[in-house]
Amino acid sequence: MTDLSDPSAEPSDELRVLNPATEEVLASVPAASAADVDAAVVRAARAQTTWAALAPGDRARLLRRFAGAVDEHLEELARLEVREAGHTIGNARWEAGNVRDLLDYAAGGVERLTGRQIPVAGGLDVTLLEPLGVVGVIAPWNFPMPIAAWGTAPALAAGNAVLLKPAETTPLTALRLAELALSAGLPEGLFQVLPGHGPVAGDALVEHPGVAKIVFTGSAKVGRRVAAKGAALLKPVTLELGGKSPNIIFADADIEAAAAAAPMSFLDNSGQDCCARTRVLVQRTVYDRFLALLTPAIESVRVGDPADESTEMGPLISRAQLDRVRSYVPADAAAIRGKAPEGGPGFWYPPTVLTGVEAHARVAVEEVFGPVAVVLPFEDEADAIRLANATDYGLAGSLWTGDVGRALRVSGAVRAGNLSVNSHAGVRYWTPFGGFKQSGLGRELGPDALTAFTETKNVFISNVSTNTEA
Ligand code: NAD
Repeated sequence: MTDLSDPSAEPSDELRVLNPATEEVLASVPAASAADVDAAVVRAARAQTTWAALAPGDRARLLRRFAGAVDEHLEELARLEVREAGHTIGNARWEAGNVRDLLDYAAGGVERLTGRQIPVAGGLDVTLLEPLGVVGVIAPWNFPMPIAAWGTAPALAAGNAVLLKPAETTPLTALRLAELALSAGLPEGLFQVLPGHGPVAGDALVEHPGVAKIVFTGSAKVGRRVAAKGAALLKPVTLELGGKSPNIIFADADIEAAAAAAPMSFLDNSGQDCCARTRVLVQRTVYDRFLALLTPAIESVRVGDPADESTEMGPLISRAQLDRVRSYVPADAAAIRGKAPEGGPGFWYPPTVLTGVEAHARVAVEEVFGPVAVVLPFEDEADAIRLANATDYGLAGSLWTGDVGRALRVSGAVRAGNLSVNSHAGVRYWTPFGGFKQSGLGRELGPDALTAFTETKNVFISNVSTNTEA
């Protein structure tokens, strides 16, 4: 069995799923081989033909039934997410609800997936939005359920079959979702889950000629490999990658509100969030006041048993992730530190805010993917924009100001896909989501989500009569 905390270990034929809060083994799941992927593609292609031939209203109804099945099992799915991913129960309920809502939203799109009629001489020209066929969705471990659904729900709604490869550490909720899809009446083989190792099952999906598109969410490093392989096959690839997002606080902002909101903008999900606002940029004139307000807010964050309703932050996903986070924080760094369980099992790291760090330090520009932020002072608007853009990533960001003009100028100047003014808006399934620069390629969610899973076919029908007897 593979030790998932050791990246050099040979892939095995079983995945051992651990509870990251207790290190208890929850399950051993067979890991899909390349041959399993081949067989799944054959089943999926067959199911897709049936699915695409259904009346749109019937496809929509089945997706709504799937949403209903998720809703009926919401608490069960949430508890499973708490156990396999260490998410707080409150977050996990939201995540299962997000899957339900996204399925409902996508179902609403089936009958609205319309092409166009374009004026031409001599006949009628229409565009048809046809399904791609079989779509591969490769998901990370940090939000196993929602991210799986971001690709799966619109792809199914647009008439495709989906093969989902969850992350090695978190296959259980994905497997349960596939059972619920079947119980709701989706055709056998239409939505299959292939738990497995990235370089084996993930790679096989990317390289398979029967898989028409890949939706990949994960690290920039693996994303580049997936894009390169996709390019060789001219296979479309959507990439949702990492982030190092700024939280810019101007002196004219409501500083109390900004300080109150800052902790959970990077501590939610223990900082294992691609949109985490881990670079807190504060105008120098309010820097000390902001830190004075931030300190008690960080120290009072409740870290512990994720199943406890009052817990605000749980453990990290794995020992490997814990080691990675530790490697970013020098032992002697000036820091505001919160509390976390010590001495027992589980992969715990306390909320940590580093001060006095150079703007180009590794921890200030690389994605840590843990509960660690840096606070950097800036002088004026131009300096804030320069610092905000001084990273290879461009996924998200927030800015706090009382000046509407400044809000417009700065949101125009920050190179990131998802910005939020005087708030830290999360990802909404009905608005587009995706990254600039090294944070990705393409967009998911929002009103155009289904279109991304179609090919546009242009058809011209001549108005010249073909009935020679008329
Ligand atoms: P990862 O890149 O290690 O793995 C992501 C997925 O890719 C996993 O399912 C993995 O098994 C698979 N994979 C690994 N090697 C592969 C290969 N050679 N071919 C095909 N698939 C392969 O990322 P992770 O550690 O699971 O997730 C954390 C990363 O995901 C962070 O960088 C985070 O920012 C990013 N992320 C981005 C978004 C977004 O929407 N932009 C959302 C969540 C997470």
